[in-house]
Amino acid sequence: MADLPPNHPPCAACAHQGRPSCPAGCPLAPYFPADRPERFEYANLLYGVDGILRRLEAAGPDPGTRRATMASIVFVSDARAADPVHGAYGVIRNLQQELASVKAEIAAIRQKQQQAQPPPPPPEDGH
Ligand SMILES: [Zn+2]
Repeated sequence: MADLPPNHPPCAACAHQGRPSCPAGCPLAPYFPADRPERFEYANLLYGVDGILRRLEAAGPDPGTRRATMASIVFVSDARAADPVHGAYGVIRNLQQELASVKAEIAAIRQKQQQAQPPPPPPEDGH
């Protein structure tokens, strides 16, 4: 391609497929830069190139929806690489445990606050 700089590296997805450079308008180049090959590697392991392209196509033309779709693919793939057993579920489970712990802490603090308040006046004893 004459219009590309001679040393323009292909994106990580194209490099993985053995292409010397990205085709014009490469749909994966914005999400899989050449300097982050592991990002594509993890996504490819979980979804495959066809699966990634299918999801990107299903996202439609809206740039925000496409970014969110690819962010989700990258997040889930990274989570799977970090924790092959639980993947994204492990992240969610950890956050749920953290939430439960914070809620318990808040409940304990509220209880201490109530105990620290002066006692209510004694009830009328009917003299
Ligand atoms: Zn590419």
